[in-house]
Amino acid sequence: MRPLPFVLALLLAAPATAEEMPCPAPGRPIEKTIRKGVPEAAVAVPTTAGLTPARTLPAGLAGSIRRVELPAGEKLVALTFDLCETANEVAGYDGAIVDELRRRKIPATFFVGGHWAATHPRRFAELAGDPLFEVGNHTWTHADLRNRDDADLDRQVLAPEAAFRAALDAAPSCEGRPPVEARRSTLFRFPFGTCDARSMAAVNAAGMAAIQWDVSTGDPSPLASARDIVEDTLRHLRPGSIVLAHANGRGWHTGEALPRLLDELAKRGYRTLTVSDLIARGRPVVADTCYDAHPGDVDRRGPRAAPRPPLPAPARPAAAPAPSP
Ligand SMILES: [Zn+2]
Repeated sequence: MRPLPFVLALLLAAPATAEEMPCPAPGRPIEKTIRKGVPEAAVAVPTTAGLTPARTLPAGLAGSIRRVELPAGEKLVALTFDLCETANEVAGYDGAIVDELRRRKIPATFFVGGHWAATHPRRFAELAGDPLFEVGNHTWTHADLRNRDDADLDRQVLAPEAAFRAALDAAPSCEGRPPVEARRSTLFRFPFGTCDARSMAAVNAAGMAAIQWDVSTGDPSPLASARDIVEDTLRHLRPGSIVLAHANGRGWHTGEALPRLLDELAKRGYRTLTVSDLIARGRPVVADTCYDAHPGDVDRRGPRAAPRPPLPAPARPAAAPAPSP
């Protein structure tokens, strides 16, 4: 039993005022909803004037990074979650995922669309300010960056940086923590796994390493159950893997799969790191393309065609199918 003075101190503590926000706020299931065409989706593209200069990309980080070659015996992987949002929608925030990562103290990397950060400034600030996580840039409106003109390419690559800064500048202080300083992103993810030489050069010139993936959870497909997500991920996972999932409500069963996946990773001796920490532990494997199986195979458009057990054969010849409703 707790000593009485301790209990009294708790009871007498000043109640939180409206300005004192809980930090971070726990996720609510309602935030998973993706709302199309709502007025809140109409956000202006922020100006990129006055951004702090980008770093020079370190040697060995140019090109499409899929995974990391690690010293023998190191069982490390990076879990990444995309927060994609297109121009005419307000996507979700899958609190079940973020809350579970925090509860277990599991590091992770979030690739955040600039538009998402503009419509979820407080959530962005919470993620960017959490030492457990790192955030990277996922374009302004989840664009396929091939064949864009210069102005459009610049907007898609740089506007998120301005949106991130604006979100951090506007973030309410919580529980006395100091404000989080906005820094230029050092990581980037191409939507749809589509890039070309020109867009890759623009991303790398902006000081960002392009982090794609070698393992897709396939979570944007409603057909991928939590069990499918866990089994498919474990089937393809190896030391140094970068795993793609979604935390914007497009991962249909990701939140349900995550505790089981984390249990299995621990059982198999894997430890998770942020992408930057994983890269620091080995040598990034650079691929010729940004996708893992075929263009547009994952990242929102649907899962890679993963092998699935065949359906059981019918015991007797099937009757004529009923007409569709
Ligand atoms: Zn995406």
